[in-house]
Amino acid sequence: MSDMANRIQVGAATFSLYLGPLASSAGGFENLPTIMDFSLVTNEAAYREIFQSMSEGIIMVDETGNIAIANRVAEQLFGFGPGELIGATLESLLPERYRKGHVNFRKAFNADPHPRRMGFGRDLTALRRDGTEFPVEISLSFTQVQEQLLIMAFISDISQRKQAEDALRRSEEQLIVYAAELEKKVELRTDALNQTISRLEQQVVERKRAEEETRRALERERELNELKSKFVSIASHEFRTPLSTVLSSVSLIRQYKERQEYEKQDKHIDRIKSSVNHLTLILNDFLSLGKLEEGKVDIQSETVVLSAFLEEIKEEVQSFLKAGQVVTTNCPSALEVWTDTRTLRNILFNLISNASKYSDSGKKIYISVEHQGSRVIFQVRDEGIGIPADDQKHLFDRFFRASNAGNVQGTGLGLHIVKRYVDLISGEIFFTSVYGEGSTFYVSIPQR
Ligand code: ADP
Repeated sequence: MSDMANRIQVGAATFSLYLGPLASSAGGFENLPTIMDFSLVTNEAAYREIFQSMSEGIIMVDETGNIAIANRVAEQLFGFGPGELIGATLESLLPERYRKGHVNFRKAFNADPHPRRMGFGRDLTALRRDGTEFPVEISLSFTQVQEQLLIMAFISDISQRKQAEDALRRSEEQLIVYAAELEKKVELRTDALNQTISRLEQQVVERKRAEEETRRALERERELNELKSKFVSIASHEFRTPLSTVLSSVSLIRQYKERQEYEKQDKHIDRIKSSVNHLTLILNDFLSLGKLEEGKVDIQSETVVLSAFLEEIKEEVQSFLKAGQVVTTNCPSALEVWTDTRTLRNILFNLISNASKYSDSGKKIYISVEHQGSRVIFQVRDEGIGIPADDQKHLFDRFFRASNAGNVQGTGLGLHIVKRYVDLISGEIFFTSVYGEGSTFYVSIPQR
């Protein structure tokens, strides 16, 4: 191994450099060159040069806080020329507001000096000669020269880093603002979307309702048409008998008039009356049903004194009773009900008319009213032909006639209409009947 000692110059300093291969008994590394040895940096000029060429500002102060040495970078940082910082107080490099506190801080450091970073966790601010401030980062150390304590401060201007940090913070803040705005926008859009959805849902509901209404109107229309054609067929059938009765009775009356047979004339006049009554009943039924189907029946409630009301009805039904049929009424004298008189009259009139039609001459018809709780219950009882058990469930169907109705004239509409009237005044209707013995119809309505 041969010595290859050399010397190099850095500024005013001279370095001794040793270049040589590494020895290895195992072999293989003998020719590896260049390991630098700085141990031979010797003179003061070299230290000075290192001190001056440091990239950080370095200031050394004595125990009283006066600057003993400052390197070029430190001078430039604070805006001073070469040597101008020497003798200045360290506090003169701080903004006024920190100076007092710093004196105490410095004393504490002097009492217990140890290398550390200054102002960890908070921003430090230094003051330039021209009065402007700038952010700095400072590390502290100390040394003992000729038994005098020297404090070293390593100072970096962190303006650029701060600017970058500030810019980053601003971007972050901006980002947060954007995010919040975005969230707001999403919220607004979601709201708008929800509103649109609920509007659409509403429209769907309305459309469905309109469709349902149209369907119901069509259904009603279809039923009315059906009713009209049924009316034509029933009218042509049902009107034929009474009209031919009227015609034959009229020509017979003429004959009996010439022969002056007054009793026979009266008999045919009665026949005409009953035929006309019957025609009127049929027409009334059709009119009522037509109005009900079109929803044109108004309900106007009023107080009805029932005893008087029943007496009136009893009077009215006399015109169609068969020979010897008697109507008896039974009603508590003060009983009143709050309802639509015309509808109630139609209901009872219809039931009494049936009781008469489906009973023989000379039979009795009983009408009674009683008060039960909040309701009033009417009964119309006859001693007629009764209703076969199998037919009873269809009794309120439109155009239904029981199998024993035989040649009793009728359209099968009366009870259907009665049921609809009863519904209109919030009532209920039911009946009991024994085939061949008679029937009782019950109508229950609220008293008020
Ligand atoms: P109609 O015009 O045929 O009398 P309704 O609707 O009034 O029509 O009655 C339907 C059917 O119910 C009648 O055809 C009849 O068979 C039966 N009916 C109704 N009331 C009575 C009653 N009081 N006694 C026996 N049968 C009755």
